[in-house]
Amino acid sequence: MKKAHWIAFALMLCLPLCLIAQPSANKTGWQAGVAKRVITPKEPLWMAGFASRTEPSKGTLHDLWIKALALEDAEGYQSLLVTSDLLGIPKDLSDRIRERLKVTHGLEKSQIILNSSHTHSAPVLSHSLSDIYPMQANHLQAVKRYSDELVEQIIALASEALEGLEPATVFAQNGVARFQVNRRNNSAQHLQRLTELSGPMDPAVPVLKVLNSAGDLMAIAFGYACHPTVLGDYEWSGDYPGFAQMELEKLYPGTTALFFQGAGADQNPLPRHTVPLAIQYGKTLAAAVERVLSEDMKALEPKIRTAYAEVELPLTKAPTSSELSDYINKSSGYQQQWAKRLLSRLEAGEKFETSYPYPVQVWNLGDQPIFTLGGELVVGYAIELKRIFGQHAFVMGYSNDVMSYIPTTTILREGGYEGATAQMVYGLPSTWGSDSEIMILHRLVQLAKEAEVAQPEEKLF
Ligand SMILES: [Zn+2]
Repeated sequence: MKKAHWIAFALMLCLPLCLIAQPSANKTGWQAGVAKRVITPKEPLWMAGFASRTEPSKGTLHDLWIKALALEDAEGYQSLLVTSDLLGIPKDLSDRIRERLKVTHGLEKSQIILNSSHTHSAPVLSHSLSDIYPMQANHLQAVKRYSDELVEQIIALASEALEGLEPATVFAQNGVARFQVNRRNNSAQHLQRLTELSGPMDPAVPVLKVLNSAGDLMAIAFGYACHPTVLGDYEWSGDYPGFAQMELEKLYPGTTALFFQGAGADQNPLPRHTVPLAIQYGKTLAAAVERVLSEDMKALEPKIRTAYAEVELPLTKAPTSSELSDYINKSSGYQQQWAKRLLSRLEAGEKFETSYPYPVQVWNLGDQPIFTLGGELVVGYAIELKRIFGQHAFVMGYSNDVMSYIPTTTILREGGYEGATAQMVYGLPSTWGSDSEIMILHRLVQLAKEAEVAQPEEKLF
């Protein structure tokens, strides 16, 4: 073979290999991909969130969505944010989704955020809140069918976003909106005549902006810390976050708007209970995002760092069988149902769990830290994390697993719904241990180091 033929032969061999080794054309900046899918149930299902509902859904106010934003940094490292118009994704489904994404796309848990808006007008999912709805066997089968299909939908959604990666630029900034009210410290009934509001709150509206190489808006990921409980009837809807996403997609045609829930567990939108109010709050939130988008936002370096852990959060001593029997006699509704189920577990020789693997995670996009925590996260966590890491930090609750409320030590001591009785709603045997808050924050400080979140300067003088 002549020398020229050898070169041609070598090129023929090398070219396909070179193409495989070089999956992205642009290795100097961000790559981003977005996808969205409708997940409105096609049949009536029980709706999640309010124990007062007595029958399955009766129609649709607007569609429910799952949405994904995939990012890849200059080194080819990827992250995937999935947002959903759902009450919360329980551990069983979250584990299934993340195990599948590990196999199909090689993504570790640290690289995936599964956040739910916590709308109270979405379907009940498998393995969650089993004591609070009086569902028959056929209802449970329908919930299982929907949940299994949801897993497939999220995998397909993630694939679409990851396969659609294209050169992009990414920006971050916090805005502000104030329609949330601390529900533990203010009476909804007397709100109209209150001249001041009490209790901690977080008015931040964190915004991520993603532009394509032509400078067009591809995606807006934005959040707020407030319960989507404006609506509670029998029609599917994303509540105020649904209206906010619709408003932004109308304002910026061709853009995908993804809502993530913050530390809104003890915050309610007040007043509430009408569709016009849900629209008002949606537009208010969209206007806050619009303001941020119209101003200079911080451009992020194409660098992704992620860290994830599960903290074994301790549970306090579980009730004995005689305590449960007493409680069954003096309680009713879901509380009685909870006690009956626990008693039957004891009678079957089961032992109650003494701790729970609680997910915490840190992303650092450029120098933008994002803290994600599982469960219904009260606002005190966002306030404390921002006190430690700076007001520019983003905090998400309701991420990767929603197993119950996550109170601060103060709320644990005060008790009430978020501090104590919500554990029954979620089927846990007892309250969280008093050192839970400190364990969670301690682990997040460690994860922030792992994710290279800027640390305070170590200067003695
Ligand atoms: Zn809630």
